[in-house]
Amino acid sequence: MQLFKNIQHSIHHYSDRNAFFINGVFYKYIDFAKSIAAIRLAIEQSTSETDKIIGVITNDDLETYASIFALWFLGKAYVPINPDNPIDRNKNIIQQAGIHTILDSSAIPSITDIHLIETARLPETAINLTPNLISDEALVYLLFTSGTTGQPKGVPITRSNLTAFVTAFESIGINVHESDRCLQMFELTFDLSVFSYLIPLLKGACVYTIPKDKIKYSYIFELMEEQQLTVSLMVPSMLHYLRNYFNEINLPLMKYSMFCGEALPLDITKEWSHCLPNAAIYNVYGPTEDTIFCTQYAYDKNGENKTHHGVLSIGEAMEGTITIIIDEDINPLPVGEIGQLCLGGTQLTPGYWKNEEKNKEAFFYLQYNGLLQRFYKTGDLCKCDEKGDILYLGRIDFQTKIQGFRVELSEIEFHAKTFLGKRNVVAIAFPDLVGNTELGLVIESDEFDHSPLIDYLKSKMPIYMIPKLIVFSKDFPLNTNGKTDRKKLGLLFKDNLTEKVY
Ligand code: AMP
Repeated sequence: MQLFKNIQHSIHHYSDRNAFFINGVFYKYIDFAKSIAAIRLAIEQSTSETDKIIGVITNDDLETYASIFALWFLGKAYVPINPDNPIDRNKNIIQQAGIHTILDSSAIPSITDIHLIETARLPETAINLTPNLISDEALVYLLFTSGTTGQPKGVPITRSNLTAFVTAFESIGINVHESDRCLQMFELTFDLSVFSYLIPLLKGACVYTIPKDKIKYSYIFELMEEQQLTVSLMVPSMLHYLRNYFNEINLPLMKYSMFCGEALPLDITKEWSHCLPNAAIYNVYGPTEDTIFCTQYAYDKNGENKTHHGVLSIGEAMEGTITIIIDEDINPLPVGEIGQLCLGGTQLTPGYWKNEEKNKEAFFYLQYNGLLQRFYKTGDLCKCDEKGDILYLGRIDFQTKIQGFRVELSEIEFHAKTFLGKRNVVAIAFPDLVGNTELGLVIESDEFDHSPLIDYLKSKMPIYMIPKLIVFSKDFPLNTNGKTDRKKLGLLFKDNLTEKVY
């Protein structure tokens, strides 16, 4: 509850300061407050008390952010719906989440067969930012991530989870101040966006967003230089794109440069650190299931850094988080041994949305320091050193990251197989020329025109999940266990024998 009072206080207190820079326009906290109040009233007037989970179409404008806060002050939760994603996927999310109302700031709404509140043209009203009294176990958001069975899976996050995150973040010692200018580079369906708008808004700072039609990395570069940003959280993929410009980048005003979402290589971090002579650099880590991020490692510019195979440590648990490393039989492993990282504590989701089967697979209880604790299996292969710092070794499953977006390779295979019928397919993650991860698809067949397949995949999955390259292989190689040898198939993408799909 206190968190929402703090948000209310900040919006009132900093009313004359800039809250957002969106598409070249500054908006003050007072503009934000007005937009929140108008949307809040419209929601109150046309939804019932029991309508707790509301869809928000993720546009890049003030009304979209105001919609989130209007819902929070009312004690409701939002489900971000990206209008650029396939309609089938969005409908699946609406149906799974049980959404009856959608808030949309678009001139022409994309989803119309549902109760719609058009947030861009609402009349002005008296400002009311008083948070409704509501249980800490009520939800703040429900995000859908790639699921192995072809259906996105919902991760609900409660008010107490979000409060725990903010408290833990504040204890790291990263001090965001009202004079800060903070980057918000994330699509609102990705939980790193919550960090990127909420932390600055709690402090009276200004949030700088990326217009949807801009090339992300070059716009980030422009913003950092022209608007003299002081705080940024990015996915490491952005560094790979920016690397060519490192010798032109000089950002002496940058105070904090944080990375999350993917492995952060030490070499590129070192090069990046020369572009930001006065910034502290952090590698933070965490899955959506554990509210934004939950471990942190401060990069040491002048000393030795902890790494595994050139990848920077993800550091130690933040306040309120418990980390353990387990073996295949869920036994906790001692320091130095390799196993699966599991997370417990105050930021942990109550469990996947209406998915008991997944919950049984992913969560378990274990005695920890004399208490029965609930843990989440991350699927990340890690080991811990004597100081409590965790080293990231890779995934134990077929999940990958595309520009920070979580992708289950089996979700791509599911849709490809649905379209191709009996043909065998394998989705592969492979490194591109700048060192980022790309997706490829191998089809067990003679060559054929694959454009109808790509069109089908585009109608089912977001654009970042569409394979960039397709290869045909007559017979899939098998490994010693008689299973398809994915490693060997991965080699097909090494030699550039492939054809670009889009
Ligand atoms: P998401 O739920 O989309 O945030 O994805 C969570 C997954 O991203 C984790 O389980 C890791 O595999 C990966 N991840 C997140 N942060 C880091 C990091 N700093 N270093 C390495 N992998 C990371």
